[in-house]
Amino acid sequence: MHRLITLCSAVSLLVGGSQAIAQQPDFSDTQIETTKLSDTVYMLIGAGGNIGLSIGADGAYIIDDQFAPLSDKIRAAIADISDQPIRFVINTHWHSDHTGGNEVFGEAGSVIIAHDNVHRRMSTDQVIQAFDAQVPASPKAALPVITFNDQLSLHLNDEPVTAYHQRNAHTDGDSIIHFPDSNVIHMGDTFFNTGYPFIDTSSGGNINGVIAANAFALTLADDNTRIIPGHGPLAGKADQEAYVHMLIQVRSLVKALVDEGKSLEETIAAKPTAELDEKWGGGFIKPDAIVTFAYQSLTQ
Ligand SMILES: [Zn+2]
Repeated sequence: MHRLITLCSAVSLLVGGSQAIAQQPDFSDTQIETTKLSDTVYMLIGAGGNIGLSIGADGAYIIDDQFAPLSDKIRAAIADISDQPIRFVINTHWHSDHTGGNEVFGEAGSVIIAHDNVHRRMSTDQVIQAFDAQVPASPKAALPVITFNDQLSLHLNDEPVTAYHQRNAHTDGDSIIHFPDSNVIHMGDTFFNTGYPFIDTSSGGNINGVIAANAFALTLADDNTRIIPGHGPLAGKADQEAYVHMLIQVRSLVKALVDEGKSLEETIAAKPTAELDEKWGGGFIKPDAIVTFAYQSLTQ
């Protein structure tokens, strides 16, 4: 029997839990909060990854779908805006706090779209090393039906929206989604607006790719761009610039120790990010964890 490990519950392990196996969290009190970002684009916050939503004359589609038990609440929040069917779900990456609703939406007729590596990882058993979490393969209805290797555009609701794959960033299957007319970018988990980010090095993630993804997004952004992070509140260009600057500092601080031949344990013990920790280390990824992700990125 598989007991489902969600990323959300797994994350609690890093924060101080000791159980390697955790139950699906209770979402009964979770509310879906909707923010309008343009005439057609919205952001939905509930539990798990932030959702992007496009609604217009051609129908509705969403970016990510959080956890399965929230599907009815997500659908109700969308129904408050429009009675259009949800035609497509684009997954920014494979983690279950972003794809947990796939099975429900897929069975209801939504076509699921993602990078090739999202399909590859969701269709096989996975291990998220940082949380010692085993994630079983997803049922067929949850898997992406359309996959792409580089970029893909949707021409709906009078706006050409493009998903751009970001190589080896938070995972090896990340996409960021650009709404050029609405001036919105959904970053998936290449951007945590909560402090230091989780970088899933066991799924092909790498700090270099996270930096590159955010640098690329900044080339699409201006001072009015609304940036949807994978987690945390809506952001703007200045927030993203500060985030990239921090990641570049972390990388160079850890690289100096890697270049001296230090082990991972010695690098963690040296507390190379000490100056940054007060501002960035208060989220669910602690200083030791970001140092570990950077070290693995630079040595794997
Ligand atoms: Zn993730």
